[in-house]
Amino acid sequence: MTEFAFPPPAAPSVAVAASSQRFPVHRIYCVGRNYADHVREMGAEPQGEPPVFFTKPADAVVANGAAVPYPPRTANCHHEIELVAAIGRGGCDIREPRALEHVFGYAAGNDLTRRDLQHAAKQRGQPWDAAKGFDCSAPIAAIRPVSLGHPSRGRIWLSVNGELRQESDVSQMLWDVAHIIAELSTLYELKPGDLIFTGTPAGVGAVKPGDRLEGGIEGLEVLRNTIVPAPPAH
Ligand code: MN
Repeated sequence: MTEFAFPPPAAPSVAVAASSQRFPVHRIYCVGRNYADHVREMGAEPQGEPPVFFTKPADAVVANGAAVPYPPRTANCHHEIELVAAIGRGGCDIREPRALEHVFGYAAGNDLTRRDLQHAAKQRGQPWDAAKGFDCSAPIAAIRPVSLGHPSRGRIWLSVNGELRQESDVSQMLWDVAHIIAELSTLYELKPGDLIFTGTPAGVGAVKPGDRLEGGIEGLEVLRNTIVPAPPAH
């Protein structure tokens, strides 16, 4: 038995809908610039800006219903509602026609973003890690297993304090889930437990402490989180 220098942290996990089982999170991959209307609101042209991949730490997940502390070092933290594909079977160089066989299920997720840090990183040609991969930056609802289908279309939406901010359809993604898995698996060996945030439609905007966020994808569990003030220094 391995003797650790101190107790290892608990493995991050996500609820599985209508089950007592948990989905153990291995890595979190994200796709940027995957809806044309969001690419335009970010000041770019969809054809000139192909989707990009970035990552978040696995322990950035936040459970549905849990409070999200407002992150430090930002004055412009944005919501981004996204369809999340959860990988159940790994692989490299996965062929697109069979890519969906690697999916365990789907969930609604929020790719929280320190937009001011992202703008600064883009201007300086620096990586997005600090803008995207901060603590508690990946709220996610329960994962619906693929036995209930693959959502190739369906409403995707997010409201803040009951006011609709984002609304589109997952059929509007520039790269669909199968294409994303095929591309991503040429860069990394996908493993069971990987989560893939597939990009957000237009309407992203700032959140502040006290805001109630609700968002979802048709047929999947609605994601609800409240933003709370940053914890005191510790
Ligand atoms: Mn995103």
